[in-house]
Amino acid sequence: MARLTLQNIYKRYEDGPKNFLKKPVKLNDYAVKDLSFACSDRSFIGILGPSGCGKSTTLRMIAGLEKITQGKMFIDDVCINDLLPKDRHIGLAFEDYALYPPLSVYENLAFNLKAKGLPVSDIKKAIDRVAPLLKVDELLTMKPSALSGGQKQRVNIARAIIRQPGLLLLDEPLSHLDGKMRQTLRQEIKRMHREIECTTIIVTHDQIEAMSIADTIIIMKDGELQQIGTPLEVYDDPVSEFVAGFIGEPPMNLLRSVIVKTQGGFFFTFTGSDLQVKVPERYNSVVFDGMKLTLGVRPVDVLITDKASSTPVPVAIYENFGDERRVSIRVGGDHLNLTTVAEVFYRRGDIIHLEFNSEKTHLFNAETSVAIK
Ligand code: ADP
Ligand code: MG
Repeated sequence: MARLTLQNIYKRYEDGPKNFLKKPVKLNDYAVKDLSFACSDRSFIGILGPSGCGKSTTLRMIAGLEKITQGKMFIDDVCINDLLPKDRHIGLAFEDYALYPPLSVYENLAFNLKAKGLPVSDIKKAIDRVAPLLKVDELLTMKPSALSGGQKQRVNIARAIIRQPGLLLLDEPLSHLDGKMRQTLRQEIKRMHREIECTTIIVTHDQIEAMSIADTIIIMKDGELQQIGTPLEVYDDPVSEFVAGFIGEPPMNLLRSVIVKTQGGFFFTFTGSDLQVKVPERYNSVVFDGMKLTLGVRPVDVLITDKASSTPVPVAIYENFGDERRVSIRVGGDHLNLTTVAEVFYRRGDIIHLEFNSEKTHLFNAETSVAIK
């Protein structure tokens, strides 16, 4: 059990904190910049962001494998900045499951406990407890070379939790696995988390993984925090175009728009397109005639309607995925994608009418990309 707090954490590789104080450096020298967040006891946190955004660096600093350039980290109320990794009571599983090849799964699991001098009977008890949680109880006599990627990863995670850590850190644990295996192991990690009640942080670049597994999502970009929230909050209420475009598959449509005021109220218009979309009334106090902004709407929230009152638009691309259909329409220089489960069939050039779910539209500042409330 553990609470984790990061306070204004910076990480710069190469130079240490002394140099940092002496000479000002460009912000992009930092792998992690001014990162603050807190994980409550037993929570399941997903750190999500594109490759290179500083996720692993953050995790390695929490584990004590990388020095913190600036800022403070706490487990419960203890500052851990100078605590050795072994004193942090942390379990680690990274993507490259470094199992000892000559040792059996049982011996791999037992390794650290043996090194600590635990009696054989206690080691057996620990393995009997952990092995079924990750379904490795059938594999105990096997060598790593005989295991599939998914099995190795299970052993890797089992080894991380065997010492009953307060904090479990998983860095892209599913990235080497194929689609079906990922989904199975994802569900098992979630179940395991419920059973061992250990504060867990999973790092991933895969938004579906983070959204389905964690109860709090931390989204990072270029070493900086973008948003913290529940999966629903970051999906429904993204703070920026970046978050809006990163969460959701297919991603949110982001259309460059100019507001036009008519007698009938405000409309979104799009350079190079006849499409006009009524601005939901809740935005009437923040928009004005001629305002440039980005309109965000998810593909599921663009509906095909038979209301001929909306602008007719030609279908550019139609794809049938069996369980859903995707339609793409050109809107000036942008593409507008919609998904529907309705059994509709179109050809390129067919004319359709669209309606946007006005409850689910988002506005973003055209220059800063920040959400307009
Ligand atoms: P992520 O895990 O999100 O893909 P990383 O934390 O691995 O990102 O990397 C963040 C940034 O720090 C990247 O620009 C990367 O090149 C840099 N970086 C990572 N590890 C090192 C290192 N050991 N030495 C120098 N730069 C590093
Ligand atoms: Mg990484």
